[in-house]
Amino acid sequence: MFTLPPISLYIHIPWCLKKCGYCDFYSYVSKEIIPENKYIEHLLRDFERDLSLINNRNINTIFIGGGTPSLLKNTSIKNLLNGIKKRKIISKNIEISIEANPKTLEYQNFIQYKNSGINRFSLGIQTFNSKMLKKIERTYSSKDAMNAIIESKKISDNINLDLMYGLPGQSLEEALSDLQIAIQCNPSHISWYQLTIEPNTVFYAKKIQTPHQDVVFNMLIEGDKLLKKAGYKKYEISSYSKFNYQCQHNLNYWNFGDYIGIGCGSHGKITQKNGEIIRTIKNKNINDFLSGKYINSVYQVSKRDKIFEYFMNVFRLYKPIFKKHFRENTNIEESFIEKNIQIAIQEGFLINQSDCWHTTKKGKNFLNSLLEIFLK
Ligand code: SF4
Repeated sequence: MFTLPPISLYIHIPWCLKKCGYCDFYSYVSKEIIPENKYIEHLLRDFERDLSLINNRNINTIFIGGGTPSLLKNTSIKNLLNGIKKRKIISKNIEISIEANPKTLEYQNFIQYKNSGINRFSLGIQTFNSKMLKKIERTYSSKDAMNAIIESKKISDNINLDLMYGLPGQSLEEALSDLQIAIQCNPSHISWYQLTIEPNTVFYAKKIQTPHQDVVFNMLIEGDKLLKKAGYKKYEISSYSKFNYQCQHNLNYWNFGDYIGIGCGSHGKITQKNGEIIRTIKNKNINDFLSGKYINSVYQVSKRDKIFEYFMNVFRLYKPIFKKHFRENTNIEESFIEKNIQIAIQEGFLINQSDCWHTTKKGKNFLNSLLEIFLK
């Protein structure tokens, strides 16, 4: 019988203090007071509706992301998590993360978040360089960033710092200096991302340029060395952690696990008992959402998309891909993708072993080319 994969919960809080020029996430700046209580009420109703799709599975991780969730009052976060816990479908030792923006954080907030059950804090630092922070239109100073790290470390040892490289006008030395400061803060997890300018952003419209690709490549190589030397293990393309501090929520995505997505503009992936996958997309319009129109669309993922999405996720991880895992998570026999696998091997992207596939260094460096093979 088909075994359903583990399931997580993603909660989207769409508001931000200011829209950053490079941001293509679904977030916006509210001109009025944020209707927090009403939004939490609707999030819980939205959650309730999705529960009917998950076949009594327990939720293993929760991620409160955005937007800027730390804009909400402590009491709102508490009411939200209490409402979810009431359903008694939360796994023991659940990981509950919240994304926080340094400008919005105070020590009291951290304590209250922790008391509500949050046990992982993800701080969107991006850079410690004040000049760069201004350039990328972040609203805090490097001092705010440092304070947020100091305060969060007082109450939790499970802290992620999000850092970006390849910022407009950034030199190799500046990128590495950011990383060195982050390492000195000794967080349990660092996400080290390259800035890419997406078409639907202000930076794209303004034709903002990022550094030359050779400079960016050197940032990646040298940054990777720094992180590894400092004891961080790379387990995904942009994720480094100390022993036992991998982000369980993101790992579930990359292992092609299931997730419920609640809140404006969120997406869900929910496998059914017959092995088919349902994709849920929630309404982006806040007024519609607050009037109870949660669902934008629900559809069954095609076989072709299922295969592509599976590889798009698992190829990000630094571990072998077991053929059994592919079968169990897609309900498709590997003979169906034999030709694609052969092409990927011939191109030097994959190595085939009896029970698993390994991505080669070339496969990781040319991930998009590797993935294209699975679109055919
Ligand atoms: S704070 Fe994050 S979500 Fe909000 S606009 Fe900036 S990058 Fe986007």
